[in-house]
Amino acid sequence: MKITDIQSCIIGREEPHSGGCVWTFVRVYTDAGIVGTGECNSAAAGASGFAVKAAIEAMKPTLIGHDPMDTGPLYELLRRRGRYGGTSAAPLIFAITGIENALYDITGKALGVPVYRLLGGKYRDKIRLYADLHAGEEETPEAYAEKAAEVVGQEGYSAVKFDVDHTGVGKLDPWNWTVGAKEMSHVIALIRATREAIGFDVDLAIDCHGQFDVPSAITLAKAVEDLRLMWLEEPVPAENVDALAQVKASTSTVICSGENQYTRFEFLELLQRQAVDVIMPDLSKAGGIMEGKRIAELADAFYVPMAPHNVSSPLGMMAACHVCASVPNFFVLEFHGREIPWWNDLCEGDKPFIRDGYMHLSERPGIGVELNDEVAKSLLWRGDRYFD
Ligand SMILES: [Mg+2]
Repeated sequence: MKITDIQSCIIGREEPHSGGCVWTFVRVYTDAGIVGTGECNSAAAGASGFAVKAAIEAMKPTLIGHDPMDTGPLYELLRRRGRYGGTSAAPLIFAITGIENALYDITGKALGVPVYRLLGGKYRDKIRLYADLHAGEEETPEAYAEKAAEVVGQEGYSAVKFDVDHTGVGKLDPWNWTVGAKEMSHVIALIRATREAIGFDVDLAIDCHGQFDVPSAITLAKAVEDLRLMWLEEPVPAENVDALAQVKASTSTVICSGENQYTRFEFLELLQRQAVDVIMPDLSKAGGIMEGKRIAELADAFYVPMAPHNVSSPLGMMAACHVCASVPNFFVLEFHGREIPWWNDLCEGDKPFIRDGYMHLSERPGIGVELNDEVAKSLLWRGDRYFD
Protein backbone atom coordinates (compact mmCIF):
# COMPACT_ATOMS: atom_id res chain seq x y z
CA MET A 1 0.00 0.00 0.00
CA LYS A 2 1.27 3.47 -0.90
CA ILE A 3 0.25 7.02 -0.05
CA THR A 4 -1.11 8.76 -3.15
CA ASP A 5 -2.41 12.08 -1.84
CA ILE A 6 -2.86 14.20 1.28
CA GLN A 7 -5.47 16.92 1.68
CA SER A 8 -6.62 19.06 4.57
CA CYS A 9 -9.47 21.38 5.38
CA ILE A 10 -10.61 23.56 8.25
CA ILE A 11 -14.02 23.05 9.80
CA GLY A 12 -15.78 24.75 12.66
CA ARG A 13 -17.51 27.78 14.09
CA GLU A 14 -16.69 30.13 16.92
CA GLU A 15 -19.36 29.24 19.46
CA PRO A 16 -19.78 31.13 22.75
CA HIS A 17 -17.64 29.64 25.53
CA SER A 18 -16.27 26.99 23.20
CA GLY A 19 -12.69 28.21 23.11
CA GLY A 20 -11.38 26.43 20.06
CA CYS A 21 -13.95 24.59 18.00
CA VAL A 22 -12.28 25.20 14.66
CA TRP A 23 -10.28 22.17 13.64
CA THR A 24 -7.95 21.16 10.84
CA PHE A 25 -8.69 17.71 9.41
CA VAL A 26 -6.22 15.71 7.32
CA ARG A 27 -7.10 13.00 4.84
CA VAL A 28 -4.45 10.60 3.59
CA TYR A 29 -5.36 8.66 0.43
CA THR A 30 -3.84 5.34 -0.67
CA ASP A 31 -3.61 3.22 -3.80
CA ALA A 32 -5.56 0.51 -1.93
CA GLY A 33 -8.59 2.78 -1.72
CA ILE A 34 -8.32 3.10 2.06
CA VAL A 35 -8.62 6.70 3.28
CA GLY A 36 -7.53 7.79 6.76
CA THR A 37 -8.70 10.94 8.53
CA GLY A 38 -6.85 12.68 11.35
CA GLU A 39 -7.60 15.82 13.29
CA CYS A 40 -5.28 18.45 14.64
CA ASN A 41 -6.41 21.19 16.90
CA SER A 42 -5.92 24.69 15.70
CA ALA A 43 -6.41 26.26 19.11
CA ALA A 44 -8.16 29.60 19.04
CA ALA A 45 -9.46 29.40 15.51
CA GLY A 46 -8.52 30.37 12.03
CA ALA A 47 -5.10 31.98 11.97
CA SER A 48 -3.13 28.96 13.11
CA GLY A 49 -5.55 26.70 11.21
CA PHE A 50 -4.38 28.04 7.87
CA ALA A 51 -0.74 27.88 9.02
CA VAL A 52 -1.26 24.19 9.86
CA LYS A 53 -2.94 23.59 6.51
CA ALA A 54 0.03 25.14 4.70
CA ALA A 55 2.41 22.98 6.74
CA ILE A 56 0.50 19.82 5.80
CA GLU A 57 0.71 20.79 2.15
CA ALA A 58 4.47 21.36 2.50
CA MET A 59 4.95 17.91 4.08
CA LYS A 60 3.01 16.11 1.36
CA PRO A 61 5.93 15.45 -1.07
CA THR A 62 7.89 13.78 1.74
CA LEU A 63 5.11 11.23 2.23
CA ILE A 64 3.83 10.42 -1.26
CA GLY A 65 4.79 6.87 -2.30
CA HIS A 66 5.53 5.63 1.25
CA ASP A 67 3.70 2.78 2.97
CA PRO A 68 1.18 4.51 5.31
CA MET A 69 1.52 1.68 7.84
CA ASP A 70 5.10 2.82 8.59
CA THR A 71 3.59 5.14 11.18
CA GLY A 72 6.73 5.34 13.36
CA PRO A 73 9.33 5.94 10.64
CA LEU A 74 7.09 8.42 8.81
CA TYR A 75 6.50 10.40 12.03
CA GLU A 76 10.24 10.58 12.72
CA LEU A 77 10.95 11.37 9.06
CA LEU A 78 8.68 14.44 9.23
CA ARG A 79 9.97 15.51 12.62
CA ARG A 80 13.70 14.99 11.99
CA ARG A 81 13.83 16.27 8.42
CA GLY A 82 12.32 19.56 9.52
CA ARG A 83 13.94 19.81 12.95
CA TYR A 84 15.93 22.95 12.13
CA GLY A 85 12.71 24.50 10.82
CA GLY A 86 10.78 23.88 14.02
CA THR A 87 9.00 20.56 13.49
CA SER A 88 9.13 19.73 17.20
CA ALA A 89 7.33 22.99 18.00
CA ALA A 90 3.90 24.51 17.35
CA PRO A 91 2.30 24.83 14.87
CA LEU A 92 4.33 22.39 12.72
CA ILE A 93 3.93 19.61 15.30
CA PHE A 94 0.12 20.11 14.97
CA ALA A 95 0.38 19.27 11.26
CA ILE A 96 2.48 16.18 12.00
CA THR A 97 -0.08 15.16 14.65
CA GLY A 98 -2.96 15.29 12.17
CA ILE A 99 -1.03 13.33 9.55
CA GLU A 100 0.10 10.71 12.08
CA ASN A 101 -3.50 10.24 13.28
CA ALA A 102 -4.63 9.66 9.67
CA LEU A 103 -1.85 7.06 9.20
CA TYR A 104 -3.07 5.19 12.30
CA ASP A 105 -6.64 5.35 10.97
CA ILE A 106 -5.45 3.74 7.70
CA THR A 107 -3.39 1.09 9.52
CA GLY A 108 -6.30 0.09 11.74
CA LYS A 109 -8.66 -0.08 8.75
CA ALA A 110 -6.16 -2.14 6.71
CA LEU A 111 -5.68 -4.64 9.55
CA GLY A 112 -9.34 -4.59 10.61
CA VAL A 113 -8.56 -3.54 14.20
CA PRO A 114 -9.29 -0.49 16.36
CA VAL A 115 -6.31 1.79 16.97
CA TYR A 116 -5.92 0.78 20.62
CA ARG A 117 -5.00 -2.74 19.40
CA LEU A 118 -2.00 -1.18 17.63
CA LEU A 119 -0.95 0.37 20.96
CA GLY A 120 -0.80 -2.87 22.95
CA GLY A 121 -4.44 -3.27 23.92
CA LYS A 122 -6.74 -1.54 26.36
CA TYR A 123 -6.79 -1.07 30.10
CA ARG A 124 -10.39 0.18 29.99
CA ASP A 125 -13.49 0.17 27.75
CA LYS A 126 -14.79 3.61 28.63
CA ILE A 127 -12.94 6.84 29.18
CA ARG A 128 -13.81 8.94 32.19
CA LEU A 129 -14.58 12.55 31.29
CA TYR A 130 -14.75 15.85 33.09
CA ALA A 131 -17.09 18.53 31.81
CA ASP A 132 -15.57 21.93 31.13
CA LEU A 133 -18.17 24.40 32.43
CA HIS A 134 -18.89 28.11 32.23
CA ALA A 135 -21.34 29.80 34.52
CA GLY A 136 -22.72 32.05 31.80
CA GLU A 137 -22.86 35.82 31.75
CA GLU A 138 -22.58 36.21 35.51
CA GLU A 139 -19.27 35.27 37.09
CA THR A 140 -20.72 34.99 40.58
CA PRO A 141 -20.26 32.27 43.21
CA GLU A 142 -24.00 31.55 42.98
CA ALA A 143 -23.86 31.10 39.20
CA TYR A 144 -20.84 28.77 39.43
CA ALA A 145 -22.51 26.69 42.13
CA GLU A 146 -25.80 26.48 40.24
CA LYS A 147 -24.16 25.44 36.97
CA ALA A 148 -22.00 22.79 38.64
CA ALA A 149 -24.91 21.25 40.53
CA GLU A 150 -27.15 21.29 37.44
CA VAL A 151 -24.66 19.55 35.12
CA VAL A 152 -23.54 16.98 37.69
CA GLY A 153 -27.15 16.18 38.57
CA GLN A 154 -28.50 15.97 35.01
CA GLU A 155 -25.58 14.56 33.02
CA GLY A 156 -23.81 12.33 35.50
CA TYR A 157 -20.25 13.65 35.29
CA SER A 158 -17.93 12.59 38.10
CA ALA A 159 -15.71 15.64 37.56
CA VAL A 160 -16.06 19.23 36.36
CA LYS A 161 -13.81 22.19 35.64
CA PHE A 162 -14.28 25.96 35.80
CA ASP A 163 -12.08 28.90 34.77
CA VAL A 164 -11.19 31.60 37.28
CA ASP A 165 -9.18 33.98 35.11
CA HIS A 166 -10.92 37.01 33.58
CA THR A 167 -13.74 36.99 36.10
CA GLY A 168 -14.19 40.72 35.62
CA VAL A 169 -14.09 41.43 39.35
CA GLY A 170 -11.29 43.40 40.96
CA LYS A 171 -8.76 43.31 38.11
CA LEU A 172 -6.46 46.28 38.66
CA ASP A 173 -4.30 46.28 35.53
CA PRO A 174 -4.93 44.67 32.12
CA TRP A 175 -1.28 43.67 31.63
CA ASN A 176 0.24 42.58 34.90
CA TRP A 177 -0.59 39.17 36.30
CA THR A 178 -0.90 40.25 39.89
CA VAL A 179 -4.14 39.35 41.66
CA GLY A 180 -5.12 42.00 44.20
CA ALA A 181 -7.09 41.38 47.38
CA LYS A 182 -10.53 41.99 45.83
CA GLU A 183 -9.96 39.75 42.81
CA MET A 184 -8.34 37.04 44.95
CA SER A 185 -11.27 37.03 47.38
CA HIS A 186 -13.68 36.73 44.46
CA VAL A 187 -11.74 33.86 42.85
CA ILE A 188 -11.55 31.97 46.14
CA ALA A 189 -15.30 32.54 46.69
CA LEU A 190 -16.06 31.11 43.22
CA ILE A 191 -14.08 27.94 43.95
CA ARG A 192 -15.49 27.54 47.46
CA ALA A 193 -19.11 27.95 46.30
CA THR A 194 -18.60 25.40 43.54
CA ARG A 195 -17.12 22.86 45.94
CA GLU A 196 -19.97 23.39 48.38
CA ALA A 197 -22.52 22.84 45.59
CA ILE A 198 -21.11 19.52 44.38
CA GLY A 199 -19.64 18.25 47.64
CA PHE A 200 -16.64 15.95 47.83
CA ASP A 201 -18.18 13.10 45.80
CA VAL A 202 -17.39 14.93 42.57
CA ASP A 203 -13.93 16.03 41.47
CA LEU A 204 -13.33 19.72 40.79
CA ALA A 205 -10.55 21.23 38.67
CA ILE A 206 -9.84 24.94 38.34
CA ASP A 207 -8.15 26.51 35.29
CA CYS A 208 -6.10 29.72 35.56
CA HIS A 209 -5.02 29.77 31.87
CA GLY A 210 -1.54 30.95 32.85
CA GLN A 211 -2.91 34.35 33.85
CA PHE A 212 -1.32 34.73 37.30
CA ASP A 213 2.17 35.62 38.47
CA VAL A 214 4.08 33.46 40.96
CA PRO A 215 3.04 35.18 44.22
CA SER A 216 -0.61 35.30 43.12
CA ALA A 217 -0.54 31.65 42.07
CA ILE A 218 0.99 30.58 45.38
CA THR A 219 -1.52 32.60 47.40
CA LEU A 220 -4.42 31.03 45.49
CA ALA A 221 -3.06 27.48 45.62
CA LYS A 222 -2.53 27.67 49.39
CA ALA A 223 -5.90 29.35 50.04
CA VAL A 224 -7.85 26.48 48.46
CA GLU A 225 -5.87 23.56 49.91
CA ASP A 226 -8.79 22.44 52.08
CA LEU A 227 -11.04 22.19 48.99
CA ARG A 228 -9.00 19.23 47.69
CA LEU A 229 -9.06 20.21 44.02
CA MET A 230 -8.57 17.56 41.37
CA TRP A 231 -6.04 20.14 40.21
CA LEU A 232 -5.20 23.80 39.75
CA GLU A 233 -4.38 24.19 36.05
CA GLU A 234 -1.70 26.43 34.55
CA PRO A 235 -1.47 28.71 37.62
CA VAL A 236 1.38 30.55 35.88
CA PRO A 237 2.19 30.89 32.14
CA ALA A 238 3.57 27.77 30.49
CA GLU A 239 6.91 29.10 29.26
CA ASN A 240 8.91 29.06 32.51
CA VAL A 241 8.99 25.57 33.97
CA ASP A 242 11.00 26.62 37.05
CA ALA A 243 8.32 29.17 38.01
CA LEU A 244 5.71 26.43 37.84
CA ALA A 245 7.92 24.17 39.95
CA GLN A 246 8.14 26.95 42.53
CA VAL A 247 4.33 27.08 42.75
CA LYS A 248 4.08 23.30 43.03
CA ALA A 249 6.69 23.16 45.79
CA SER A 250 4.76 25.75 47.82
CA THR A 251 1.45 23.94 48.17
CA SER A 252 -0.42 20.69 48.73
CA THR A 253 -2.92 21.71 46.02
CA VAL A 254 -2.44 19.44 42.99
CA ILE A 255 -0.80 21.31 40.10
CA CYS A 256 -1.52 20.40 36.47
CA SER A 257 -0.05 21.77 33.24
CA GLY A 258 0.94 20.74 29.71
CA GLU A 259 -1.64 21.84 27.13
CA ASN A 260 1.05 24.17 25.74
CA GLN A 261 3.83 21.57 25.79
CA TYR A 262 4.51 19.24 22.87
CA THR A 263 6.38 15.97 22.29
CA ARG A 264 8.04 13.72 24.87
CA PHE A 265 10.97 16.11 25.19
CA GLU A 266 8.97 19.01 26.63
CA PHE A 267 7.12 16.67 29.00
CA LEU A 268 10.44 15.17 30.10
CA GLU A 269 11.45 18.68 31.17
CA LEU A 270 8.18 19.24 33.10
CA LEU A 271 8.62 15.92 34.89
CA GLN A 272 12.35 16.12 35.61
CA ARG A 273 11.99 19.59 37.14
CA GLN A 274 9.09 18.34 39.27
CA ALA A 275 6.89 21.15 37.98
CA VAL A 276 3.60 19.18 37.83
CA ASP A 277 1.56 16.63 39.77
CA VAL A 278 -0.62 15.84 36.72
CA ILE A 279 0.18 16.27 33.00
CA MET A 280 -2.41 17.44 30.49
CA PRO A 281 -1.06 17.05 26.94
CA ASP A 282 -3.48 18.00 24.18
CA LEU A 283 -3.40 14.80 22.17
CA SER A 284 -4.54 16.61 19.00
CA LYS A 285 -1.46 18.83 19.19
CA ALA A 286 1.32 17.10 21.12
CA GLY A 287 2.75 14.93 18.32
CA GLY A 288 0.34 12.12 17.55
CA ILE A 289 -1.19 8.94 18.85
CA MET A 290 2.09 7.13 19.52
CA GLU A 291 3.76 10.30 20.84
CA GLY A 292 0.81 10.66 23.24
CA LYS A 293 1.42 7.13 24.48
CA ARG A 294 5.13 7.88 24.89
CA ILE A 295 4.31 11.01 26.91
CA ALA A 296 1.94 9.03 29.16
CA GLU A 297 4.50 6.29 29.76
CA LEU A 298 7.19 8.83 30.51
CA ALA A 299 4.88 10.33 33.14
CA ASP A 300 4.09 6.89 34.50
CA ALA A 301 7.78 6.38 35.24
CA PHE A 302 7.50 9.47 37.49
CA TYR A 303 4.21 8.13 39.00
CA VAL A 304 2.39 11.08 37.44
CA PRO A 305 -1.12 10.64 35.96
CA MET A 306 -2.21 11.94 32.56
CA ALA A 307 -5.43 13.96 32.19
CA PRO A 308 -5.42 15.17 28.57
CA HIS A 309 -6.63 18.60 27.54
CA ASN A 310 -9.26 18.18 24.84
CA VAL A 311 -11.29 20.64 22.77
CA SER A 312 -11.60 18.33 19.74
CA SER A 313 -14.43 17.10 17.56
CA PRO A 314 -15.68 13.54 18.17
CA LEU A 315 -13.02 12.30 15.71
CA GLY A 316 -10.04 13.83 17.49
CA MET A 317 -11.56 12.97 20.85
CA MET A 318 -11.92 9.29 19.89
CA ALA A 319 -8.30 9.28 18.70
CA ALA A 320 -7.38 10.58 22.18
CA CYS A 321 -9.55 7.87 23.75
CA HIS A 322 -7.49 5.15 22.05
CA VAL A 323 -4.39 6.60 23.75
CA CYS A 324 -6.20 6.98 27.09
CA ALA A 325 -7.35 3.35 26.91
CA SER A 326 -3.86 2.04 26.19
CA VAL A 327 -1.94 3.46 29.17
CA PRO A 328 -2.24 2.55 32.86
CA ASN A 329 -1.89 6.09 34.23
CA PHE A 330 -4.83 7.69 32.39
CA PHE A 331 -6.79 9.82 34.88
CA VAL A 332 -9.61 11.77 33.19
CA LEU A 333 -10.21 13.38 29.77
CA GLU A 334 -11.65 16.83 29.13
CA PHE A 335 -14.97 17.26 27.29
CA HIS A 336 -15.37 20.74 25.87
CA GLY A 337 -18.26 20.24 23.44
CA ARG A 338 -21.33 20.35 25.70
CA GLU A 339 -22.39 23.76 24.46
CA ILE A 340 -21.62 23.21 20.76
CA PRO A 341 -25.02 22.32 19.24
CA TRP A 342 -23.56 20.53 16.17
CA TRP A 343 -20.74 18.69 17.99
CA ASN A 344 -22.38 15.23 17.69
CA ASP A 345 -23.74 15.86 14.18
CA LEU A 346 -20.31 16.58 12.69
CA CYS A 347 -19.24 12.95 12.94
CA GLU A 348 -20.52 9.42 12.33
CA GLY A 349 -19.76 6.51 14.64
CA ASP A 350 -21.27 4.65 17.57
CA LYS A 351 -23.61 7.27 19.00
CA PRO A 352 -24.16 8.71 21.42
CA PHE A 353 -20.43 9.21 21.77
CA ILE A 354 -20.85 10.33 25.38
CA ARG A 355 -23.03 8.65 27.99
CA ASP A 356 -23.17 9.20 31.75
CA GLY A 357 -19.88 11.06 31.92
CA TYR A 358 -17.88 8.62 29.81
CA MET A 359 -16.78 8.32 26.18
CA HIS A 360 -17.11 4.72 25.08
CA LEU A 361 -14.11 3.37 23.19
CA SER A 362 -14.82 2.48 19.55
CA GLU A 363 -14.34 -1.14 18.47
CA ARG A 364 -14.53 -0.21 14.78
CA PRO A 365 -11.38 -0.54 12.62
CA GLY A 366 -9.14 2.53 12.75
CA ILE A 367 -10.07 5.51 14.91
CA GLY A 368 -13.73 4.50 14.50
CA VAL A 369 -15.23 7.93 13.83
CA GLU A 370 -15.75 9.55 10.41
CA LEU A 371 -16.71 13.06 9.36
CA ASN A 372 -20.29 13.47 8.17
CA ASP A 373 -19.41 15.05 4.82
CA GLU A 374 -22.66 17.00 4.49
CA VAL A 375 -22.47 18.56 7.94
CA ALA A 376 -18.74 19.17 7.60
CA LYS A 377 -19.22 20.99 4.28
CA SER A 378 -21.78 23.26 5.91
CA LEU A 379 -19.23 24.22 8.55
CA LEU A 380 -16.22 25.02 6.35
CA TRP A 381 -14.13 27.72 7.96
CA ARG A 382 -13.81 31.07 6.18
CA GLY A 383 -14.38 29.78 2.66
CA ASP A 384 -12.01 26.83 2.89
CA ARG A 385 -12.46 24.04 0.34
CA TYR A 386 -13.64 20.54 1.31
CA PHE A 387 -11.82 17.30 0.43
CA ASP A 388 -12.17 16.08 -3.17
MG1 LIG B 1 -6.60 24.90 30.28
